[in-house]
Amino acid sequence: MFFNKDIETIERSSLVKLQEERLKKALEAANATKFYSQRFKENNIDISKIKTIEHLRDLPFTTKNDLRLSYPDGMCAVPREKVVRMHASSGTTGKSTVIFYTKKDVSEWAAQVARGMYSAGMRSTDVFQNMMGYGLFTGGLGLHYGGELLGCMVIPTSTGNSPKQIELMQDFGSTIMHITPSYALHLGEVIRNEYKINPRDLPVKKAILGAEPYSEETKKKIEELWGVDAYNNYGLSEMNGPGVAFECTHKSGMHLAEDYYIAEIINPETCEPVPDGEFGELVLTHVNREAMPIIRYRTRDLTRFIPGTCGCGRTMRRLDRIKGRSDDMLIISGVNVFPSQIEGVIMGIPEVGNNYQIVVDRENNLDRLHVRVELYAKMFSGDVKELEKLKSVITNRLKSVIIVTPRIEFCEPGSLPASMGKAVRVIDHRKL
Ligand code: AMP
Ligand code: ZN
Repeated sequence: MFFNKDIETIERSSLVKLQEERLKKALEAANATKFYSQRFKENNIDISKIKTIEHLRDLPFTTKNDLRLSYPDGMCAVPREKVVRMHASSGTTGKSTVIFYTKKDVSEWAAQVARGMYSAGMRSTDVFQNMMGYGLFTGGLGLHYGGELLGCMVIPTSTGNSPKQIELMQDFGSTIMHITPSYALHLGEVIRNEYKINPRDLPVKKAILGAEPYSEETKKKIEELWGVDAYNNYGLSEMNGPGVAFECTHKSGMHLAEDYYIAEIINPETCEPVPDGEFGELVLTHVNREAMPIIRYRTRDLTRFIPGTCGCGRTMRRLDRIKGRSDDMLIISGVNVFPSQIEGVIMGIPEVGNNYQIVVDRENNLDRLHVRVELYAKMFSGDVKELEKLKSVITNRLKSVIIVTPRIEFCEPGSLPASMGKAVRVIDHRKL
């Protein structure tokens, strides 16, 4: 039933004790970083006085921007020689946010992830096809190590290359796939329409879905299309990556790994805690990491704690499906994109006029980013070739900043809706 029964069914009072012991260590580690030592000093914070979870609420929040400003290693609590890995995620502008891991951090993360996968019914006899991006993004390597720790055969296919995914799935009998919900829909359709194979006839029995927001309806669609049991898995690179919270076989919310994190749910406007069981922004403090002890991190993800206990016997509380974000970050094919990054690039191009619009939609179950850009009138009286050249310059510049390849559309001056008050520049047609 359990991967590590003692911790998974720990009494709540013992859990709080463990969290508070770990918090003390995390604060000491934080105080060893450039960023937090300065922040604590500026705010006259004496960390020896922060002993309980209630006291933690007196500390300032940490944001993605703080991480960006601490680039490259202002938040690292250990000397470089103790670091064995780094990952990175895109920030609001320019530099990425970097996360470091010691040897212990990597193995603790693997144990956390393995425990979550086990709770979703994964066993050593499973063949695990990991279709999440390997590299700086945490999605691939995160679950990879968990799968190996469970004793599964891991097939590290990463994203894309649908023909190879299908071939390996058939030849090696993959029973579990880890995939973004949008790619699951796309790949399922490709298998059905181009390969004339019913995805339900493939050996895959379970899908672990995560990395982007999706609805209960999308999950059901994937289950139907593939004939699988789908499990939700939430994570963010700042808090290790995937495996922060994992759905168990009772499928009634995702158990948060509370021995790793102290969670708060706040009202994103007032920053006050919301009543128990209500939706708000999730704030996490990582209390089980040596290299990056992040305190009160504003995830910007909107969720709530599901009241009551789970039938599986695990005592860690369950988070509800993420229902959106409290900032403007878009997740396009699993990649974090901020509208400000797009604006920063296009407004730096002299031929571009005053207005632009970002449109996101879904074609064949894949996310598409369109950027409509107004050009100055003189641009339309010249050579079409010049316009094509400009289009590829903008496409390439944007791609190098946001990773996603946009489709650029040029518009005459004044043709895009002018803003009345707060500009509405982002239109997201994707339905959750
Ligand atoms: P990254 O920084 O690339 O790790 O992206 C993390 C973000 O992806 C989170 O803050 C969420 O907004 C989103 N995300 C990850 N997993 C899920 C999930 N299971 N459901 C909804 N959103 C998710
Ligand atoms: Zn459960």
